[in-house]
Amino acid sequence: MPTQAKTPGRVRKQPQRTCVACREVAGKRGLLRMVRTPEQVVELDPTGKKNGRGAYVHASTECARKALGTGSLSRALKAPVEPGVAEQLLAKVTDEEARSADS
Ligand SMILES: [Zn+2]
Repeated sequence: MPTQAKTPGRVRKQPQRTCVACREVAGKRGLLRMVRTPEQVVELDPTGKKNGRGAYVHASTECARKALGTGSLSRALKAPVEPGVAEQLLAKVTDEEARSADS
């Protein structure tokens, strides 16, 4: 029996993210990334590849509203979320919800 090699027991590689609104841990699917850029601006990050501190929220209007309404998103990112960005986020999750309801 091989001992050391490739023990798949505790793999921590799967990206698990916490939704800032409901604190549920989920895979990257179904979550939207928000990012605070080095310029301290909070932006939507649809590709998940922007540089900066990221925070995740479920792609649902419920969680997006909560994250914005309770300020948990700006707390997580330590930067204010501009109203325009909040609108973008809400538009995006509304879109995502419509899309998943479609299929
Ligand atoms: Zn959530």
